[in-house]
Amino acid sequence: MKHRIGASIALVLLALLGFAGGARAADKVKAVASFSILGDMVKQVGGDRIDVITLVGPDGDAHVYEPTPADAKNLATAQILFTNGLGFEGWMDRLEKSSGFRGKVMVASTGVKPRTMVEDEKTVTDPHAWQSLANGKLYVANIRDGLIAVDPEGKSVYEANAAKYLDALAKEEADVRAALAALPQERRKIITSHDAFGYFGAAYGLEIVAPEGVSTESEASAKDVAKIIRQIKAERIPAVFMENITDHRLLDQIASETGAKIGGELYTDALSPPDGPAPTYLDMFRHNVGALTAAVSA
Ligand SMILES: [Zn+2]
Repeated sequence: MKHRIGASIALVLLALLGFAGGARAADKVKAVASFSILGDMVKQVGGDRIDVITLVGPDGDAHVYEPTPADAKNLATAQILFTNGLGFEGWMDRLEKSSGFRGKVMVASTGVKPRTMVEDEKTVTDPHAWQSLANGKLYVANIRDGLIAVDPEGKSVYEANAAKYLDALAKEEADVRAALAALPQERRKIITSHDAFGYFGAAYGLEIVAPEGVSTESEASAKDVAKIIRQIKAERIPAVFMENITDHRLLDQIASETGAKIGGELYTDALSPPDGPAPTYLDMFRHNVGALTAAVSA
């Protein structure tokens, strides 16, 4: 804090001395990220050179988000917009148009191999690509390249920040693999409320079953719930997990009807607030893997 006050005084002094140009050069790149997980990744790569505004904040559900006039205002003056893509932010096109945004759009999932699945007889794309750290590394490379495109002077800073962050993600990836590889094969199946762990399950060898589909937009039908309850009983699925972005009542009901244990809360589509257990992308992985291994191995 002391440092920041010092910096502000220095800026005021510069302005007083007539170095207005100097203060101007200190302006930061204004970036907007569609949701909190992506916002954290952008912050890690952009560091001090950028200001990031996140549209869907901690514990928020981006599937069903309704943009506000403040979002349009923020976007109007931004130089770069980071989105997840893969159909995650169905509301973004309209927001972009209504805001008059003229900056660069960077779709962070560019280069990801999308998972598709059949839901209600339609083929849908699973947007939750960030739930695999291999994909997370692609996101980071795209974020770095996007920032360099709008702020070429910061190239070396973005490259250094991204390299450091990519190392941390690679280390976490090894830890996740080691932790999950230790789980017994017959217990590698869990229930979550919506289908957000498809990429996670595919990357780390877990089977995830969810009464709701890859979006939270449509609710699970009584038939879907009955089917899951039968499946939990027949396959002795050990645990069901709450999600930070969805209502807990359905999972409570499933747990009480099957005797499956409630394995805690997983962070799927949003981070926790700063004082919670998952305030960053890396913290989210550590928390989720801790909760999964504790519930499944117990
Ligand atoms: Zn989701």
